[in-house]
Amino acid sequence: MNTTLTPDVLIIGGGPAGLTAAARLAPRVSGQVLVLDREADAGGIPRHSDHPGYGMRDLKRVTSGPRYARQLVERAVAAGAEIRTRATVTGWSGERTVEVTSPGGRFEVAARAVVLATGARERPRAARRVPGDRPHGVYTTGQLQNIVHLHHGRVGERAVVVGGELVSWSAVLTLREAGCATALMTTPYRRSESYAAFTVPGRTVLRVPVATRTRVTRIIGRGRVGAVEIEHLDTGARRTVDCDTVIFTGDWIPDHELARTAGIELDPGTLGPRVDPALRTSHPGVFAAGNVLHPVDTADVAALDGAHVADSVLRWLAADGRPSDGTGVPITVDPPLRWIAPSLLRPDSPAPARDRLLLWTDEFVLVPRVTVRQDGRVVARRTLPWPAAPGRVLRIPSSVLRRVDRHGGEVRVSVT
Ligand SMILES: Cc1cc2nc3c(=O)[nH]c(=O)nc-3n(C[C@H](O)[C@H](O)[C@H](O)COP(=O)(O)OP(=O)(O)OC[C@H]3O[C@@H](n4cnc5c(N)ncnc54)[C@H](O)[C@@H]3O)c2cc1C
Repeated sequence: MNTTLTPDVLIIGGGPAGLTAAARLAPRVSGQVLVLDREADAGGIPRHSDHPGYGMRDLKRVTSGPRYARQLVERAVAAGAEIRTRATVTGWSGERTVEVTSPGGRFEVAARAVVLATGARERPRAARRVPGDRPHGVYTTGQLQNIVHLHHGRVGERAVVVGGELVSWSAVLTLREAGCATALMTTPYRRSESYAAFTVPGRTVLRVPVATRTRVTRIIGRGRVGAVEIEHLDTGARRTVDCDTVIFTGDWIPDHELARTAGIELDPGTLGPRVDPALRTSHPGVFAAGNVLHPVDTADVAALDGAHVADSVLRWLAADGRPSDGTGVPITVDPPLRWIAPSLLRPDSPAPARDRLLLWTDEFVLVPRVTVRQDGRVVARRTLPWPAAPGRVLRIPSSVLRRVDRHGGEVRVSVT
């Protein structure tokens, strides 16, 4: 490995977060802004998510995933960023130096600043420990959409979709396009986690029955899936549903391997890198943006993270490598909240992206009352005009942190 590239900024991951960061940084730095992506084309998940619903907050118009991905790539290139695809970052050989493998060979990139924008993925069946046979025909939404939209391949004719999030309805749409009916959607919750705007037409127009309070207890089939067994969580009653395809949706895990191998501090809730509102990780000059931090929010929110991290990177470059002062105050959550991002407040932290804190809940709360405590003392209370629901990010105004002492003890956020 004898080639070393030396851009000012290296962005790992060419999804909405990485591309938006690149478009904002390229005209503002004197050196190169380099984006690396392991796929054949940049664009991230939207490349294969071929339905409308992208771009509302960042592009101010709604478009399809593939069109959105193309526009973000064009913007980054027009701004002067270089994008290298089929380039997988495999490890680190220095504080801000990474090793890259590509069809043309291996090389190193040593940058003044690094942005991790590697996104998140759905946990596959094996990681969910679902018992039964190991037949063909079991996918995540991402795998399904790769087969259907990128490789124009076939799936089955009758599917069970596991999960009731937004992404689960995205799977239903893709299945329909591939000529596969959704026989059933299962969710452990009392109602589908998705917005009523998706669930109601999903049930009526797409005619998808949703089995609430259920889970898949067994996959049945030799060679190809033949059925799944599902169990009602309250009664324990079990039944089998005939199907030749099973789609595991949601249950996200950040693509955090690079952060982990660098020894960057991970947040125990998100399992992504722990960052402050400037999106700085525990390693000086290494930043993170997008769904690697909050698994998962929508693409436009990831993109606006990218714009936000660009400003932090510019401040870092201008300070010429001077690390931030102070260690910061950790922000933690009480159940039913699972995580909060960002989860560290440093003395010099600016406001977070979009002035929002992002949280994940494991229970529905119709009218959430948020309480913020520091060292046991209440520093803010706020009633939100929108519900908290599992399977989608809860956003709260970051002004709830205004009275937090940035040199004080731990901050706890709870919702009742
Ligand atoms: C099925 C589905 C449907 C969705 N529908 C919508 C929707 O309708 N509207 C909406 O707004 N959002 C939707 N989303 C969410 C949206 O796609 C994500 O919020 C968005 O893609 C996150 O952007 P990102 O840049 O953080 O990560 P990603 O888009 O995941 O991009 C990460 C990139 O990093 C690259 N990468 C990872 N590791 C490495 C490495 N080691 N080396 C090099 N490259 C690497 C990957 O190849 C990838 O291109 C959907 C998601 C899914 C899965």
